[in-house]
Amino acid sequence: MDVNEVKKEIMEKLELGELNSGVFYGEWAPVEGRDTLTSYSPIDGSPIAKVTMATKEDYEKVIKKAQESFEVWSDIPAPKRGWIVREIGNELRKYKRELGRLVSIEGGKTLTEGEGEVQEMIDIADFALGLSRQFYGLTIASEREHHRMYEQWLPIGPIGVITSFNFPCAVWAWNTMIASAAGDTSVWKPSSKGALVAIATMKIANRAVEGLGYPPIFFLVVGRGREVGEWMSTDTRLPLISFTGSIPTGKRIAENVAKRLGRTILELGGNNAAIVTPKADTTTALKGVAFRALATAGQRCTTTRRLILHESIYDDFLAKLKNIYEKVSIGNPLEKEVLMGPLIDEKAVENYLNAVKLAQEQGGKLIYGGERAKISGFENGHYVKPTIIEANPDMEIVKTETFAPILYVMKYRTIEEALEIHNNVPQGLSSAIFTTDLQEEEYFLSHRGSDCGIANVNTSTAGAEIGGAFGGEKETGGGRESGSDAWKAYMRRQTVTINYGKDLPLAQGVKFDI
Ligand code: NAD
Repeated sequence: MDVNEVKKEIMEKLELGELNSGVFYGEWAPVEGRDTLTSYSPIDGSPIAKVTMATKEDYEKVIKKAQESFEVWSDIPAPKRGWIVREIGNELRKYKRELGRLVSIEGGKTLTEGEGEVQEMIDIADFALGLSRQFYGLTIASEREHHRMYEQWLPIGPIGVITSFNFPCAVWAWNTMIASAAGDTSVWKPSSKGALVAIATMKIANRAVEGLGYPPIFFLVVGRGREVGEWMSTDTRLPLISFTGSIPTGKRIAENVAKRLGRTILELGGNNAAIVTPKADTTTALKGVAFRALATAGQRCTTTRRLILHESIYDDFLAKLKNIYEKVSIGNPLEKEVLMGPLIDEKAVENYLNAVKLAQEQGGKLIYGGERAKISGFENGHYVKPTIIEANPDMEIVKTETFAPILYVMKYRTIEEALEIHNNVPQGLSSAIFTTDLQEEEYFLSHRGSDCGIANVNTSTAGAEIGGAFGGEKETGGGRESGSDAWKAYMRRQTVTINYGKDLPLAQGVKFDI
C-alpha cells in the first residue's frame, strides 16, 4: 500500500478535501482570506492536503462559542453527559479503520499503531462514561453543632488543550472525554503536523454530540504554535491549559499560565530507562527493550532511551540486542511486516544526526546505526537507522530527550548504582526494571527507587493503558491524565458548610456575641 492509495480510500469518508478549514467555532470557518499550511506525509514526503490557520478574529469566535456551549453543557447531569461521551466513542468505533489510516499517513505510524491510537480514544470514552457516575466528594465531620460539611466538584468552563504531533488525537481524547463528562467544553490547538487528523476527529466527535441534539462542545484552532499557543496560554477565559509537548515549550506555557494564576496539566518530555538485572528473563527483557526503543521510531514520550545493564550480562545482552536491531524492518509503515516507520520530518532527522555526533564527541561509542536509512522508492521520506550507543551516565546528551530511536547503553554493578544512574536525568516520565528478584523489584519501587511517574516491572517503559494516571515528575511537568483521579484537574472543588441549627456556633471556640 502507498500513501496515495490510502488517501483515496479514506479522505471522502472522513469528510476531508484538498483544502480544509482548520477552525471550528460551532461551524467550520470559511477558508477564504486565511493562511494555509500543507500537511505532508513523512512516509514519502508527499503533500496530503492543505489546512487553513486561524486568524485572531476566528479565535475570538471560538472562545465565545465555547463559553456559550459551556452554559448549556454544564447544566446537563453528569451521568447523561457520560452517556453522550459514550456515543462519541461509538461514532469513533465506526471510523477506527479510516482514522487509524490517516494517523498512519500523516504521522508515519504503523497501521496497528494508527488504529491503536483510535482505540485509545474509544477506551477513554468508555472510561469517562463510568466516571460520570463517580465524581465523588467527601463528607466531613463538623466540630460545630448542627452543621454538615461536604465537598462537591463542579465544571470549570471551557478548557484549552494543546497537543504534540506524536499522538495526534489520543492525547486530545485523554483530556476531552474526561473533561466533557466533567461538564467542560474544550478548545483544541493540535500540532500543525497532525492537523488533518485533528479535523477528522473533530468532525466525528461533534457529529455524535449534535446527532443527539446538543450544541457542539469541541472546538478547534489550527495555527502556528507561537501564535495560537500564546493566545490560549495568556487567555483568562480558559481556566485550564492542558499541554502535551516538549519541555522548552512546556516551560513557556507554564510561565504564561502561572502569570495569570491559571491551572496547567503539563505532559512534557521523557528520558526513560530500563534496568536489566542478572535475574531478568532475557527473552522478556529483550522484547521489552527492543519493542519500546524502536516502536513509533522512538517518537513516543515513553520510548526507552536509556538501557542500564548489569556488568555480568552486559556483553551478551548487548550482542543479542544488536542482532535484533540489525534485523528490524524499516520502511513504509503501511506495509504489514514493517516495524519502524519514518521520523516526522527532516528537522527530526537533523536532530537525530546531531545527537549521534554529539554523543560520540562526548565519549560515546557507536554500536549500531547512527545514519539515515535508505528506503528504495521512498527517498523523500524521513527514515533513520535505529541506533545503539555505549555511553556513560554523565554525558550531557544522555540527559537530553532526542525524539528519535537512539538508545544509550550503560553498565552498573549494584542495584543502588543502577538507580543512581537511572535517576541522573532531569526528566521523570517512565521507567522499567526487568528482574525476577523480589528484592531488586521492591528496591526499584521504593522511595529510593525510580523517581518517575510511571514504574513498570517486567514490561517496557511505553505502552500505557487507559485507567492508570499517566504523567511524570521533575521536568516532565507533574501532570496526570487518562485515569485514576485525573478528573479532578478538570473540575473545581467546593467545600460546603451547611448550618441546619438555630444558632451560629463558630469553629475553634471563637466567640462573637452581638
Ligand atoms: P512541541 O513542544 O514542539 O509542540 C507541542 C505543541 O505546542 C504543538 O501543538 C505546537 O504547535 C505547540 N507550540 C509550539 N510552540 C508553542 C508556543 N510558543 N506556545 C504554545 N504552543 C506552542 O512538541 P512536539 O514536537 O509536537 O512533540 C514531541 C514532544 O512532546 C516530546 O518532547 C515528547 O516527549 C512530548 N510528549 C509528551 C507526552 C507526555 O504525555 N508526557 C506525550 C506525547 C508527547
